[in-house]
Amino acid sequence: MKTYKYPFYDQSNTIRIGNLLDDMWQVHEYFHKWQRQRYKDGLPYANYYAMDSHVKVLKQTTHPHWQALPSQAIQQELKRIDKAYDNFLKKLGGRPKIKKRHKFKSITYPGEAGWSLKNNRITLTFRKWNPKTGKWQFDKVPYTFHKHRQWHGTISRITIKRDSCGNYWLCITTTYTDFRPLPTTGKSVGADFGMKDAYLTLSTGEKIQHPQPLKHALNKLRSLNKELSRKVKGSNGWWRCVRQLARLYEKITNQRKDFHWQLASNLCKKFDTIVLETLNLDGMKRLWGRKVSDLAFYQFVEILRYKCQKHKRHFKQVEQWTATTKPCSDCGFHNENLTLKDRQWTCPECGSHHDRDINAAINILRAGIAVT
Ligand SMILES: [Zn+2]
Repeated sequence: MKTYKYPFYDQSNTIRIGNLLDDMWQVHEYFHKWQRQRYKDGLPYANYYAMDSHVKVLKQTTHPHWQALPSQAIQQELKRIDKAYDNFLKKLGGRPKIKKRHKFKSITYPGEAGWSLKNNRITLTFRKWNPKTGKWQFDKVPYTFHKHRQWHGTISRITIKRDSCGNYWLCITTTYTDFRPLPTTGKSVGADFGMKDAYLTLSTGEKIQHPQPLKHALNKLRSLNKELSRKVKGSNGWWRCVRQLARLYEKITNQRKDFHWQLASNLCKKFDTIVLETLNLDGMKRLWGRKVSDLAFYQFVEILRYKCQKHKRHFKQVEQWTATTKPCSDCGFHNENLTLKDRQWTCPECGSHHDRDINAAINILRAGIAVT
């Protein structure tokens, strides 16, 4: 599966998508509350089919305006709720949360109903009440989006998203698997994540720095937040400030993602086998706080995993408790006296001089190759 994301052009009728999302949020809120009430009343959990038939009743009685909503999207939302509760009841996840209206960001149309696509134009089918005939009738609204690339494969579903800046996006999910093997280079690499000297240290001795976009935007974020707190909540100036903040956060996220994609791409071009360590993210977060979130190791690992699959590279992660820092990569001597502060050290056994991170990267590479 591959998802392509296109921005909608700014047009007067995008407000209808916004309204649609807000209405779908009502469905979301209603059913979460309904499930909670049922639980309080000691009733058994109502699964997807029970919720679906309940919707039909509601449409005829108290919520006739829901008939204007695309039924496939409602069903998809109910499936989301069902899944959340299913996980919760199986103790796989926490208690499902009710989203705030502005946090409800996407609706999904599975299959082919409710929309049609032609070139860079998508037509969504809304419904409106016709007072003359006394019936609901279809109301087709065309939207154009910026089609910067062609999608491949057959479309399995489409999702319409609203981001925190108030822009709308069309996500087209297809059955296509992107597989473009790169020529083999015959090289392998081990990589060690770091917080201090470098983001990524390769066993070849190369050190890669992270741009740390959050850190660089911190001053601006602070002043914007200060400005926001001075303004009257809900006023025009306040909203302007909120939008500026949202845009800045969006920019930070994009910068980080861009760096990760480029780095993953470069590694895939240079090496056949890439070995990483398995991260203990919770432990790291406790130690380092915000910086870990800025570096977003997990996101990078996921991107690299995907890239390796696409370019037919071997991707390995050595187990979490493999010793990588302390052994000497030349003779295997365990240097138990090594502390976090020691960036450089000399092996007392063979006398070779090590950089802490490069030594670890070499050990990671060795451990990864030993597994196969
Ligand atoms: Zn040694």
